Amino acid sequence: MKPYPHKIPLATPTMHEEEMAYIQDAFDRNWIAPLGFNCDGFEHEMNIYLNRGGNGQFHALCLNAGTAALHLAVKLAGVRRGDVVLCSDMTFAATVNPVSYEGGVQVFIDSERETWNMDPRALELAFEKYPDAKVVMLAHLYGTPAKMDEIKEICRRHNAVLIEDAAEALASEYREEKCGTFGKYNVLSFNGNKIITTSGGGMLLCDNEDDRRKALFWATQAREPALWYQHNEIGYNYRMSNVVAGIGRGQLKHLEEHRDRKEVIYRRYEKAFANLPIAMNPYLPDSKPNFWLSCMTVEEDVRVDPMDIIRKLAECNVEARPIWKPMHMQPVFEGFDFITAEKTPINEDIFNRGLCLPSDIKMTEEEQRYVIEIIRSFF
Ligand SMILES: *Cc1c(COP(=O)(O)O)cnc(C)c1O
Repeated sequence: MKPYPHKIPLATPTMHEEEMAYIQDAFDRNWIAPLGFNCDGFEHEMNIYLNRGGNGQFHALCLNAGTAALHLAVKLAGVRRGDVVLCSDMTFAATVNPVSYEGGVQVFIDSERETWNMDPRALELAFEKYPDAKVVMLAHLYGTPAKMDEIKEICRRHNAVLIEDAAEALASEYREEKCGTFGKYNVLSFNGNKIITTSGGGMLLCDNEDDRRKALFWATQAREPALWYQHNEIGYNYRMSNVVAGIGRGQLKHLEEHRDRKEVIYRRYEKAFANLPIAMNPYLPDSKPNFWLSCMTVEEDVRVDPMDIIRKLAECNVEARPIWKPMHMQPVFEGFDFITAEKTPINEDIFNRGLCLPSDIKMTEEEQRYVIEIIRSFF
């Protein structure tokens, strides 16, 4: 097939008009700094949005990256040198790196097949092996909600703090409650490829105001209340800019619309592949993913290598990607423990048979048909 005349990307930002109005407001009021009314507004509006799910009031803090929010969550959870943290294994490295920032030790937990997220059976096994583990770091891969009831119950029984990395799962719902509201600490990301973006940014949601205040203190260089610069602790510069927060406020108005457009893309793939030995990334019937990235796996025993599909798509000007490589397979985490409830790890299987498909909400039907045709030609 001839290469497509322009690139068909995986996921890019989609801007509207409100973003610029909020930025203009920041300029007009000369509020070009961290903190400020757009940050306050963004936190407030996100809280209203998330509370629609009914999980109670959160204390939101805008930060300059999802990774910064994860780091502060790890600190708030009290992770110290040598502490074990039970972590999602198939996720982006940013989910688990902050554990190392605090000297903690990641133990990676395999996924189940129904959502590709942390397997409650493997988590239970991990607690048997590490009864002193006090923190669980869970990510919802590609916006598909994990088995939250089971995982929350296990955390409760073992008295462990749950940190929820909902960076990919804003606007996803599990049993009618929004992702980003299940943990004691919850993290969102507004990086450029996410379902809404501020170019770069993140948010931490705490279940109490004291923790939010502590996180804000660390995020603003740990400045003690004194006339001079007084420091009793190591701090960070993690605040979000008031300009950037304006983008977020504008984007938030279009979050549900973005979600719906993501689902249209997923459904088109699903329909087109229905009679092929291809499965779409699965989700629970009582959950509502945001369909951030549409993914597929080639069925077992079918001799098609996903890497060949990715290479062919690239030749045709189409961006696809392998499934996020599991953390226990990463050289940087060599020798770290990995817990699975299976003989052969599920994550290795999904990684070997899967790929991420173009999921940009500006992709036209014609562009998507072209992508689908290339994939069809392999079967
Ligand atoms: C993008 C992402 C992050 C990191 O967010 P940044 O805002 O880029 O720092 C963390 N976890 C997951 C699962 C992500 O996809």
